[in-house]
Formats: sequence, C-alpha cells, structure tokens
Amino acid sequence: LIQLRDVRKSFGGTEVLKGIDLTVEPGEVVAILGPSGSGKSTLLRTINHLEKVDGGTIAVDGELVGYAVRGGRLHELREHEILRQRTHIGMVFQNFNLFPHLTALENIVEAPVYAQKKDKAQARERGLELLRRVGLEDRADAYPRQLSGGQQQRVAIARALALDPKVVLFDEPTSALDPELVGEVLDVIRALASSGTTLVIVTHEMGFARDVADRVVFMDEGRVVEQGTPTQIFGDPRHERTRTFLSKVI
Ligand code: ATP
Ligand code: MG
Repeated sequence: LIQLRDVRKSFGGTEVLKGIDLTVEPGEVVAILGPSGSGKSTLLRTINHLEKVDGGTIAVDGELVGYAVRGGRLHELREHEILRQRTHIGMVFQNFNLFPHLTALENIVEAPVYAQKKDKAQARERGLELLRRVGLEDRADAYPRQLSGGQQQRVAIARALALDPKVVLFDEPTSALDPELVGEVLDVIRALASSGTTLVIVTHEMGFARDVADRVVFMDEGRVVEQGTPTQIFGDPRHERTRTFLSKVI
C-alpha cells in the first residue's frame, strides 16, 4: 500500500533522512521506534507531503505522492492535487491539532463537507457514528477545551477516519497525555488495528508496539537500522544500536 524508495530529506545542509526504503502492506500495522531526532516525524510527514523529499519516491496505493511523471521527469503536483491526495492519508498528531472554535462533531465533518463536498446531513450522521466508535457520542457538541486530552485525541482519530483514509499515520499519539488517559486512546487505536485499517504509528509505548504491531521498524540517525516482527525486534535485536535503545526504554 505504501512504498518508500531511497527517501532523502535535509534541513539546512543536515541530512535527517538518509535513504529510507520501507513498504507497508494493506491492513498492516507498522510501529516506528527510535531515539529522539532519528527522523521518525519527518518520515511520517513525507508520506503525506507535509515535508517535500529531496530525493527518492513515495507511492500510496500505486500513486506517487506529491509528484507526477511528465516527459520522464518528476513535477510537483498542484496544491489542490496534493490536498486531494492527503484526504486519503489520515494523520493524528501528538498535540491533537483540533480546531478550537469548532465542536467535536464540527471538527469531524469539516473536511468531508468543505474539502470533499459531501452532503452535510450525511457527514453529520457519519460523524456521530465515528464519535460512537471512539466512545464519545455524548460529547458531540463539546468544544476541544471542554474535553480531556484523551477525549480530544479520540476526536482527532475520528476526524482522521471521516475521510475514509487508505492509511492512518500516528505521530506519538499518546505522548502528550497524562498517564491515566493513555489507555483509552491506545484502546481506540487497537480497535482500529483489529478492524483491518492500515496504520503507521510512531510511538514510545513499547508494550503497545509489541502487542499491536505486525512489524516494528527501528530508526536511528535517519536510517532504518532494522525491522521485523515484534518478537524478533524485542526478543532478539540484531543491531547493537537497537539493543542499546531498547535497554534504555523498556
Ligand atoms: P522525536 O522522537 O524527538 O519526536 P523524531 O525522530 O521525530 O524525534 P524528527 O522530528 O523527524 O525526529 O527530526 C529529525 C531531525 O530533523 C532533528 O535533528 C530535527 O531537529 C530536524 N528537523 C526536523 N524538522 C525540522 C525543520 N522543520 N527544520 C529544521 N530541522 C528540522
Ligand atoms: Mg517526532
């Protein structure tokens, strides 16, 4: 479903992604682990073209992200084409990023109604169904500031699902939460995973990665150091850097 080939990205002369190759199969749940600054967020952001790559290519469902090939060369897509591609790639951030002036339900129907021109009543109906799915049907009219962090993050997940994405990308979805709120968000992600949604999750929750991921990818200094099943990576890491990292975080 997702193919990254030799993806490179630099910021001001420093290469932070040094040729990433990664494939994600439909329905797969991939957890990305790695130390701070290893390029995990940058990698996620390249997948929906929030960061432009400096080299390499990314394809989602067979379609190049951010570019079209014309006359044998890559040309960046126009803004509306990029936005159309992004509607297929849900993204959930560490800090929820809800619109503060919109209610929970309005946050969810915003993109379907204004970007995808869906029927308003239908979008609300579907929005309520998604709120039910994340256990918040009774908070449809609450504003983000009236919700706990865990509830806000569950609204953000419902919002990402409202566009029927082919994949949902999570960037440390629980690391801004008080410890007692982490579980409710992980439960929602776990349910998504078992419903067959393709997920890519950057996380520091090792127990969660071990339980939920089909595959664990360990990154360090802009490279994929190793990847494998959770059993392999947690039980028998091949590389010294993976071992050192895991010994610090577990
Ligand atoms: P963390 O676990 O702390 O979130 P990360 O693995 O997500 O780390 P990135 O945020 O991808 O790491 O950052 C990788 C490197 O790129 C870091 O050195 C960071 O300072 C740098 N970087 C990221 N975004 C930018 C930017 N917009 N401009 C300049 N440098 C950046
Ligand atoms: Mg990050």
